[in-house]
Amino acid sequence: MPAEAAAAHERLMQFLYRAPIGLVETTLDGTIEMINPMSASLLMPLSRDGDLDNLFVALRTVAPQLPDMVGAYEPASGSVCESVRIPLPAGRDFDTATQVLSVSILKLDEVRLMAVVSDVTLEVQREQSGLARRLDAAARTDSLTRMPNRAVVRDLVQRAIERGRSEPSYQFAVLFINCDRFKQINDSHGHLAGDKVLGLMADRMRAKLRLRDRGNRTVGNEPMAGRLGGDEFVVLLDDLRSPEDVHSAAQRLLNVLGQPYTVAAQQLHLTVSMGVVLRAQATGDADAALQDASIAMVEAKRAGGARYVVFEPSMHERTARRGEVESDLRRALTANQLFVVYQPVVALQTPTSADCLPAHAAGVEALVRWRHPTRGIVPPVEFIGIAEECGMIGAVGEFVLATACHQFVQWQRSLGRLAPRLLAVNLSRGQLGDPGFVDMVSGILRSSGMQAAQLQLEITESLAAQDKSVQDRLRDLKMLGLSLALDDFGTGYSSLSSLHQFPVSTVKIDRSFVSEAVSSAHHRVLIEATVRVAASLGMATVAEGIETQAQADRVKQLGCDKGQGYVFARPLSAVDLALWLVGKVDPSAKSTSPLAEENPLSVP
Ligand code: C2E
Ligand code: MG
Ligand code: MG
Repeated sequence: MPAEAAAAHERLMQFLYRAPIGLVETTLDGTIEMINPMSASLLMPLSRDGDLDNLFVALRTVAPQLPDMVGAYEPASGSVCESVRIPLPAGRDFDTATQVLSVSILKLDEVRLMAVVSDVTLEVQREQSGLARRLDAAARTDSLTRMPNRAVVRDLVQRAIERGRSEPSYQFAVLFINCDRFKQINDSHGHLAGDKVLGLMADRMRAKLRLRDRGNRTVGNEPMAGRLGGDEFVVLLDDLRSPEDVHSAAQRLLNVLGQPYTVAAQQLHLTVSMGVVLRAQATGDADAALQDASIAMVEAKRAGGARYVVFEPSMHERTARRGEVESDLRRALTANQLFVVYQPVVALQTPTSADCLPAHAAGVEALVRWRHPTRGIVPPVEFIGIAEECGMIGAVGEFVLATACHQFVQWQRSLGRLAPRLLAVNLSRGQLGDPGFVDMVSGILRSSGMQAAQLQLEITESLAAQDKSVQDRLRDLKMLGLSLALDDFGTGYSSLSSLHQFPVSTVKIDRSFVSEAVSSAHHRVLIEATVRVAASLGMATVAEGIETQAQADRVKQLGCDKGQGYVFARPLSAVDLALWLVGKVDPSAKSTSPLAEENPLSVP
């Protein structure tokens, strides 16, 4: 061989020897004819006896399929297999991660094979950790909204709390967001529509928070929005310049989330309630902060929704107290601690009524009371709302209605023409939502023997303005022959011009107007206007909460048909009411003690 050719050959051999990839030339049965050092070092650990004569023998235990693959490959030359991954058994020299070899076999001609062997351990590890990262991301992402899920929210809140402990100037706020009446959307438009709304809410939160971030370069870290599940979201406002910033941020989020949602060509209206925990109140761990934020959110809902409330530690007491009332109330129902008192409603426009007391009761309003074993007489404002929330309002309402109807019929039997002619009973939102409610009312009318026309159910504006199912139920109630009254008129949002929309025959003007009737011309105008509009719609008016004779005179002069208030009588027990009706009770010596309202449910 000429010198130059020998040198070129030597260079080639060096190149193949130093190549950072294993190369082996074998016969078709695997007998090794040439092998470079990289191959030798990769394959030697597999050799049992320390010899490396045959590739297939060396790989027998880890890749027994190779000889068959070669045997089955018919063409004279070409790729027999490419990048076959061969994990090596652990426990040899490599005790950390499993080593993985990659083997490709090329048929060079009818008698020779070329195998390319490489160590792909690192590549496999990279792939595996990429997969693990993707799996982990999936486990930390809410699939519906693509937002961080509960686990991430907790982590981030925890991190913020810990950073707050070491950095006194660091300000953050946890905003707990819950939709108002989301169930209604699911019930009336289906769960798909509900899911769509949640997705749109997430988009809006993301957009809003990004906007804020862009507009405010001083914000260091990213604000975070995540979904806890259901219709509950959490926003973590990070690196606030001052705790006051949270108010504008919360209001902006409320506004953006309160815009209508277009789903399947329909506009859905939804508001959210928000509870806010500021850094100063986040004294426990992430779970405690989220719990406190949710307590504040419930307060926001209780206040009517569509607002945010900042958490205060005193809310814990209120929540605990509410829980106590709830369990006591369950007992009250079975232990006969509830009873009903009756407040007369008198006719104002007859000559004898307001001037010549005791007046004949045109009607009575049934009002529930609770004789609590330790707290004494509990007024309804302290437990009707709780009964609503914990699903007990149906049982409470049924008790009041049944008791009052039976009592009313008894008065008619025992008092004859002196008996009240109309019984008013208050209704709650939760009762009207119950599909069996109309049947329950008609059952009580039947069992008590009461005429439907003598029963009036009182509803509030917000209740009457509810969705179609409530409207339908009110119509069904009226079909029984009873009438409806609009209670506390003037305290809601509806104006006089919407009075005609309510299916009621009586409007009860709220005490807040009546109490100003003497002192404020403005309130007198409002009362008079209400009386006029109601009269034009064929509705009667009742002035509520008349406390003085001067007020009684005023509302009479303004045209109110009936009046109700302490000036005539306080709510009375059934016995006292009967005495009042027959003129034996001086109304000025009215039952001022709440205990005097206790109702033994017997009639003289
Ligand atoms: P409401 O239906 O507007 O009942 C009138 C309330 O005004 C009663 O309070 C009555 O005692 C009070 N009141 C009457 N005259 C005067 C007065 O001259 N001055 C003052 N300051 N107050 C007067 P009560 O019994 O505490 O009931 C409060 C509310 O609780 C009721 O307001 C009603 O919304 C609700 N409620 C009472 N009983 C029931 C019930 O059986 N079921 C339901 N769902 N709600 C009830
Ligand atoms: Mg009422
Ligand atoms: Mg009222």
